[in-house]
Amino acid sequence: MSENNAGVLDKENLPDSGGHFGEFGGQYVPETLMTALDNLGKEYDIARKDPEFIKELKFYLKEFAGRPTGLYHADRLSEELGGAKIYFKREDLLHTGAHKINNAIGQALLAKRMGKKRVIAETGAGQHGVATATVCAKLGLDCVVYMGAVDMERQKLNVFRMRLCGAEVRGVESGQKTLKDAVNEAMRDWVTNVEDTHYILGSALGSHPYPMMVRDFHRVIGQEVRHEILEKEGRLPDELVACVGGGSNAIGLFYEFLEEPDIRMVGVEAGGHGIEIGQHAARFEGGRLGVLQGCKTYILQNDDGQIELTHSVSAGLDYAAIGPEHAYYRDQGRIEFAYATDAEVMEAFQALCRTEGIIPALESTHALAYVLKRAPEMRKDQILVMNLSGRGDKDVNQVAKLLGEDI
Ligand SMILES: *Cc1c(COP(=O)(O)O)cnc(C)c1O
Repeated sequence: MSENNAGVLDKENLPDSGGHFGEFGGQYVPETLMTALDNLGKEYDIARKDPEFIKELKFYLKEFAGRPTGLYHADRLSEELGGAKIYFKREDLLHTGAHKINNAIGQALLAKRMGKKRVIAETGAGQHGVATATVCAKLGLDCVVYMGAVDMERQKLNVFRMRLCGAEVRGVESGQKTLKDAVNEAMRDWVTNVEDTHYILGSALGSHPYPMMVRDFHRVIGQEVRHEILEKEGRLPDELVACVGGGSNAIGLFYEFLEEPDIRMVGVEAGGHGIEIGQHAARFEGGRLGVLQGCKTYILQNDDGQIELTHSVSAGLDYAAIGPEHAYYRDQGRIEFAYATDAEVMEAFQALCRTEGIIPALESTHALAYVLKRAPEMRKDQILVMNLSGRGDKDVNQVAKLLGEDI
């Protein structure tokens, strides 16, 4: 973090004390979890105002994770598209390869501060699990990661990385054996072991205070962008773009600029094979208001409230619910949403490798697919900033397979 970010965790804003962003958010959990959430909220509220905590957070973000990340002018891509001047916020250059470590560091430091010696986390593709296991190794915390058995099979490399860092990876055999089921198991563990355990949730989702807390730990992204774009261009950007799974990298970028009326903001969801039931994870395309895993928000569900199957080429965007703050700002008309299909993502992935020599995470590539369509509609004197939330090393095998290559 640069110096001008001092004290940023102090700013009062949404949600309200019950965790509501308008009608979204809240704490829809059993009685047994309420105490744990309340305590966490209180501890976080004290920590965020404590200069010692902020100092420690900044230290690890800089020395361990590699902040600040650059704001990079993609001149070759901009030229090829012939429209807006495109900048990438390079979260892909962080330790462990994505923005997720910002939140993992923040929450692990909070756990330590609360005197909790044990950390649990859920993971889908394994990226949040890896970030958490890595930070726990660094801070000397015991770490257990819940992961669906199906995901473990699909993401063996990440399972191994977590184990190398000393984490125990527990396979979840219930339900569809994927992310949603891993979250359920993690919550069960937390209720049982709350005395010595902190649950590091991986996106701007779940019950209050998580959506707010995770957002705050990622706000550094937008704060750095403000500083960097002013330095490079002497003015603020015209449009911000980010992919949206739960919504943490997107809100991290957007939050700093919400009160700038001239800046357009677009979140890009996973369109999968197209907008048909079970074929995508675009919650604003056919999703409805409901409650999932402690949070009221837009959810892909059927008439009986059963959660629909989702699909995306990128595991990190493949979830049936969206963060409540995004639902709120969309209803307010402040943040717009689009989606990119798997096919568009595959095209965009190759375009970025070819023009800029950057291999993007498939999640981030959803934002890029939108940028490829949007930038040519903009003028050359306009500026677009896209959050490049992660690097694509983890996805190269999958992409090769989809392109029909045997590596
Ligand atoms: C996990 C992940 C995402 C999606 O999560 P958000 O909370 O929506 O940011 C996006 N990009 C990358 C690289 C990820 O690993």
